[in-house]
Amino acid sequence: MALVSHLAFSETDVEADADVIVVGSGAGGASIAVHLARAGVRVLVIEAGAWRAGSDLPSSAYGSMRDLLDNWASNLTMGRAGWPIVQARTVGGTTVINSAICVRTPADVFARWQAETGVGGGLADRVWAHQDALERELSVQEVPAGAFGRSNTLATEAATALGWHDHAMRRYVAGCAGSGQCIQGCRALRKQSVDVVFLPEVRARSGVVWSNAPVDRVVFERGRAVGVRGRFRDPTGRRGGRFVARAPRVVVAASATHGPALLRRSGLRGAVGTGFRAHPGSGVIGLYDDPVDMNTGATQGWASMVMRDTPGLKLETLALPLDMLASRFPGFGAAWVRQIAQYRYAAHWVHAVRAESVGRVWSGPFGQPVVWYGLDKADMVRMRDGVYAVARLHVAAGARAVMPGVAGVPGVIDRDSVGILADGPLDPRAYTGILSHLFGGAPMGADPRASACGEDGAVHGVEGLFVADASMIPSNLGVNPQHTIMALARCVGDGILARA
Ligand SMILES: Cc1cc2nc3c(=O)[nH]c(=O)nc-3n(C[C@H](O)[C@H](O)[C@H](O)COP(=O)(O)OP(=O)(O)OC[C@H]3O[C@@H](n4cnc5c(N)ncnc54)[C@H](O)[C@@H]3O)c2cc1C
Ligand code: SF4
Repeated sequence: MALVSHLAFSETDVEADADVIVVGSGAGGASIAVHLARAGVRVLVIEAGAWRAGSDLPSSAYGSMRDLLDNWASNLTMGRAGWPIVQARTVGGTTVINSAICVRTPADVFARWQAETGVGGGLADRVWAHQDALERELSVQEVPAGAFGRSNTLATEAATALGWHDHAMRRYVAGCAGSGQCIQGCRALRKQSVDVVFLPEVRARSGVVWSNAPVDRVVFERGRAVGVRGRFRDPTGRRGGRFVARAPRVVVAASATHGPALLRRSGLRGAVGTGFRAHPGSGVIGLYDDPVDMNTGATQGWASMVMRDTPGLKLETLALPLDMLASRFPGFGAAWVRQIAQYRYAAHWVHAVRAESVGRVWSGPFGQPVVWYGLDKADMVRMRDGVYAVARLHVAAGARAVMPGVAGVPGVIDRDSVGILADGPLDPRAYTGILSHLFGGAPMGADPRASACGEDGAVHGVEGLFVADASMIPSNLGVNPQHTIMALARCVGDGILARA
């Protein structure tokens, strides 16, 4: 193969070799790739999605679904709820479309892992040391005052009044311009997503990135992983040549859904596909007398963790573009048009449930991940509590009404009547939920019968195969996951370097 650092697509068949193959270029994949490349390892990153330059990024929600989201965000959980699983399929993975919120792994998470899975002893210090470095490398900082915007200001003031304001949000963003476009990708390149920072460094250090290259199978010989194979496919669905890549070490970092699905497609069983978890969430729109203009200011600029332990929630602001939020306005025809005309006066804030419910992942007939996941009653009570908490926050901020997006209660609720949400339904179908923080599917643990890999990411019983993404996380976190995923991936990288 010719020595190129980026192969976007190939009409003809391609073969290559490397020291380490990394499947997936998101939070986990890019973080381990750059870590290994810095140590002189020849890394080949193979990514299913396309590489988008800043100027290529879409400006609408429709464009984001078309160009950046996995399957137009139409992957739904199987089970009663049928909620969408939102992930990216692009070079840089979900970091390209996320809000770049940076939260360190809380100490109680490691204690839980150790108690429940037998891993985690000593992991905390290594994870936190990597998080120190990641914060420097990704320019972690608070949202600048000039980019805060009114939605974030209203939430901060209301939370302070309620006693819910506990920290200033920090993000992987170098000088946020407050364009409210994080979900469409940051055209201003202020967001320090891994496609902007780590993958160019991988290439500069003689690493190679393939895009439009979905891996179909891990290849094994005599019980050890020796490479991967697949076929180039661009975002229009055009199929190119087949590829085979060989390396003595293969790292699967294709996310908590695609990673376990790939491993199962490749013939692995046992605990592979088990332990899938999430932080399902939903949003409440507040309607204000004066314009909020949530599309100006940081997409997410305020958050609270005061309810992380009880009842198990995280609260955040989340600005959405009109074409994404429009479906959340109630009514039909002319009445609906009158509702969406209120967009300038609306603020959209969300909650994420620290859910304990557990699901499964397997590979569907066309290779797509199939995720069985539903919320038990305790989690549905948390979901209902979250909607009510966000509604109360809006009321404290001065909203005249809220739109909770819950079937069975009025579409628009006057500020004096939000108490009805405390007795809202407990049927998941009644809520407009989504899954964006995902965990497990190839969970780490000491017992090979109950876990897929060890804390070093090494898949039990298979030489040369590692997991380094959200799928190795064996519990919920109760905080935004990117920082934990990146640091764990670097710990997996340390193990690979130590074995080399
Ligand atoms: C809208 C949104 C906002 C979010 N905001 C935040 C936030 O502010 N802070 C935070 O901490 N977290 C946030 N998250 C979550 C965070 O982005 C993810 O937890 C994290 O990116 C997951 O990392 P990962 O490496 O497991 O997977 P990903 O980052 O999703 O990367 C997986 C990559 O693997 C590729 N892939 C899949 N299958 C294959 C295959 N067969 N072959 C090759 N490549 C493949 C995918 O295309 C993708 O690029 C957000 C998520 C969403 C959806
Ligand atoms: S709010 Fe705008 S400028 Fe700030 S990180 Fe997001 S997309 Fe970039």
